Formats: sequence, C-alpha cells, structure tokens
Amino acid sequence: MGAWVFCVSIALTDAVNLINTCHMTSVINDLERIVGKAHLITDDSKYSLAKDYTKAFTPDPLLILQPGSTEEVQETLKYCNLKGISVVPSGGRTGLSGGAVATQKEVVLSLSRMNKILEINETERTIRAQAGVVTKQLQKAASEKGLYFPVDFASSGSSHIGGNVATNAGGIKVIRYGLIRDWTLGLKVVLADGRLLELDNACVKNNTGLDLRQLFVGSEGTLGVITECLMKLTAPPKDLLVSVFALDSLENVLKLFELTRTMRLNLTAYEFFTQFGLKKVEEHTHLPNPFSNYHPYYALVEIEKAHDADLENLEKFMEKGFESGLILDGVQAQSSTQAEQFWGLRENIAESLTALTVAHKNDISLPMSRITRFCQELEGLIQKEYKGFEVVNFGHIGDGNLHVNFIKPPSMTKEDFFLYAKKADLSMFELVKRHGGSISAEHGIGLTKKPFLHFTRTPDEIALMKGIKSIFDPKGILNPGKVF
Ligand SMILES: Cc1cc2nc3c(=O)[nH]c(=O)nc-3n(C[C@H](O)[C@H](O)[C@H](O)COP(=O)(O)OP(=O)(O)OC[C@H]3O[C@@H](n4cnc5c(N)ncnc54)[C@H](O)[C@@H]3O)c2cc1C
Repeated sequence: MGAWVFCVSIALTDAVNLINTCHMTSVINDLERIVGKAHLITDDSKYSLAKDYTKAFTPDPLLILQPGSTEEVQETLKYCNLKGISVVPSGGRTGLSGGAVATQKEVVLSLSRMNKILEINETERTIRAQAGVVTKQLQKAASEKGLYFPVDFASSGSSHIGGNVATNAGGIKVIRYGLIRDWTLGLKVVLADGRLLELDNACVKNNTGLDLRQLFVGSEGTLGVITECLMKLTAPPKDLLVSVFALDSLENVLKLFELTRTMRLNLTAYEFFTQFGLKKVEEHTHLPNPFSNYHPYYALVEIEKAHDADLENLEKFMEKGFESGLILDGVQAQSSTQAEQFWGLRENIAESLTALTVAHKNDISLPMSRITRFCQELEGLIQKEYKGFEVVNFGHIGDGNLHVNFIKPPSMTKEDFFLYAKKADLSMFELVKRHGGSISAEHGIGLTKKPFLHFTRTPDEIALMKGIKSIFDPKGILNPGKVF
C-alpha cells in the first residue's frame, strides 16, 4: 500500500514537472517572438542580471528579457498581464534597496538595450532619452551642447536615467539643484496591461488636474515601466571650487554648515565624512589624505564662483571658521584633478566599506536641527546594547541625509552580526521616527526597508498607496512584494 502511494506521488510530480516544462517552453517561445531570441536570457548569467547592489537576497528569476522599443515593452507587459507572470523592471542595477532583485521566478525586464539619446533641444533646454541611457552618458550629451544635467552621484557611471526616475534619485548636488523629481519634465510609461501613457507634453506649466507623471517618480517599478524620459537641463555652473575642512565634532560640521548659510556661500554641495571613512578610502583606493594628520570629522564644501564676490565670501567664511575654532585645518583644490581627488575621498566611502569591512548600511534623513541629538542618542544606544559595533556615518549632510553604517566587530560571526544589525535597525528607526525623520532618504524602500515603512508613513498613507497600485496594476504583476 505504502509503495503504491509512493508510485502515484512520483507520477503526479512528473506530470506537474512536465506541465511546468511545457508551460515554461511556451512562455519562452511567446516572449522570444516579442523581443527576438538573442534578447531573452535563460542561462546562468540570468542570476547576476536579476540583482542590484544589495547582497542580502538570492536571485531566482525566470528569465531576463531585453526589449528594444516601447512597443516591445507594451507587448511584453500585455502578455505577462494576461498570463499572470510577474515582472521586475531593471535599470542599471545600482539600487541599494533590493528593488530590482527577482527572487520569485519573475521575468526581469531590463531596459539596457533602450539606451539612445533621442533629442537635445537647446532652446527648450531639454533632453529626451530612452530609459536605459546611463546617467553619465546623459550628463555628457548635455555637456557637449554646453548644457548641464545636475543630478549626480557615485553610481552615475552605471545607473540608468529610467532607474533614477523610478527611485527619485538625489545625490551630491541636491542642496543646490534638488532631486530628480525637479528635473523630470515628461515620461513615457507602459502600464501593466500594455497601455502607453505619454505624460510628456513638455510644458513647464500644465495645471490640468492631477500630475500623474509625478506618481511614477519614486514608484520603484511598482506602477509602470518607464521607457522614455524628457529631462530638463540648465546652464552649467561656472568655476567650482572644492575645499575640505577638518573639524573635531559632528556638531561643528553642522555649525560650519550654518556658517555657509549666514555668509551666503554660493554652495553647490556640502558633504561630510569621518576619519574611519577616510582611512578606508585611503586603503582601498590609494587616494592621498590631503592633511598631514587625521581629524575626527571632515566637511567637503563645493561652491560656484560665478562672480568675484563668491570668492570673497568663501575667504571671509574660512577666516571666520578658523577664528571661531570651528575649522581645525583646511585645503582648497588647486586643479580639477585635485578637486576630483577630494570628491573621491567622499564618493569612494561606500565602495571602500563594502570592500574592506562587513557593513550594514542605512540611509536616513532628519531635520537639520535634530541631527546632533539623534547621533548622540544612536551612539549611546549602540554602545549600550550592541557592544563592539562601530557606527560610521557619512553623507549629504547639507540635506539632512546620513548614510549610517554599522561595522561588524572582528570577533563576531557574519550571521550573528546581521541578526543584531537588523535588531539595531529597529531601535534606530524608532529614534528616527521620534526625531521626525525618514527611514529612507534617497535609496527607496524596495525589499530592504519594506518591513519598516510604517516608521515613516501612517497606515492611512500606506493604504492609499496600495489603492493607487491596484488602479494601475490590478493583477499585481509589476514588482510584486516590493515597497508594500
Ligand atoms: C556607490 C553607490 C552610490 C550611490 N549613491 C546614491 C546617491 O548619492 N543618491 C541616490 O539617490 N542614490 C544613490 N545610489 C543608489 C542608486 O544608484 C540609485 O537608486 C539609482 O537611481 C538606481 O538606478 P538604477 O538604474 O541602477 O536602478 P535599478 O537598481 O536597476 O532599479 C531601482 C528601482 O527602480 C526600478 N526601475 C528601474 N528602471 C525602471 C524603469 N525603466 N521603469 C520602472 N521602474 C524601473 C526597479 O524595479 C527598482 O525598483 C548609490 C548606489 C551606489 C551603488
């Protein structure tokens, strides 16, 4: 009797496998007809194409699809919607929240072949590009026409403009130019059922009801697939002067920022890092420490010298900074190469920490007036409850944005460390909430922050977001399980 049940169960499993195999073959054939055989990947390379910069998830995609046009994206989504196949939109895969990771046999829809700059309009100061254009490439194309696209960050050599819009990217120039939301004039978006929304009439002024275009900015691939972006451009800044100042406390980093405001510096960036970060960058990249010794904190200050008065203001600012004891030491870049090196000290921290330590990363923001208090309370909490953890902060502090990193103590196993780090996150997010901050400043929610969304958004807000999702994607095929 037992053997008979065993035989039947084998036969049933075989039948299910056969059906699955047949189903899989027909899905592959159908999708191949849409994008072409060469643009559908099922071999082992699919695993590396189904993950972003996060390491915590094991990719398990069904296949990778690389459509070459908006029409092919429409056909693909129409088909997947009909068959109930989940789709993960994928850009440059530099995301830090697991938004572009496929873990449940989804079709990964990569925009990498849709990488053409379509038009630059010098009169309107706009650039129209397919969603898969790499951010740096878009910046370069603008610059070749004497124009400037100001959204910039360390991963811009790999990220896509479509991915940037989908994550409402920020970066190092937000303090002067704002987020990518502010530069998005128009979008072409394919909805889950294959319908195309052309939200790009290129008018700066368009008060005709709800601005649907803005809904897609920061939607992390959950509402539609962006296939084309119309971005605003501006005049490039004149001379950029980059300085690094050494300080002895975070409080003084913030006081120096206040001074940039009272002295009316023509600021384009205000970033900070610590001695720990600097040493790791030196070790990993061999960029030189610009000072003869080490200091606890550093502020990178970039200003635009549009007029002579800007330089005079900078000089007065430094005078005041040194006189008041806020600045311990300072260096000003004497060439564009040196300016790049100074920026390298800041921009290589994330990569250096990943290469040289076991780090658990967070990206939070706080009202400026709460940062010092928050950091003191966080330090106290970690010292008391998470002995041996090193807290390493850096980031876009001029926007109230801190990249908070917990570093693994040498004696702890990786498994234990990540377990404790997740617990520490909960305590930290409580603290963020109490200080009126956000658990994700610019990296998004994706998978990593999904369980913690309620620390920043109310139940009503989350319910409304889910309601909007169900209007755009009633079957829930787009990036399921992400954000909420
Ligand atoms: C070293 C480093 C530094 C970074 N610094 C910053 C920084 O300063 N500021 C900042 O904001 N971010 C930063 N990031 C994070 C990351 O680069 C940004 O979030 C970036 O905008 C992601 O773009 P991507 O093309 O790589 O998107 P992906 O990682 O491929 O995808 C991100 C999300 O967008 C969705 N998506 C992608 N393309 C589309 C599309 N065409 N249509 C619909 N949905 C889509 C995906 O499904 C996913 O949810 C950094 C990352 C690294 C590795």
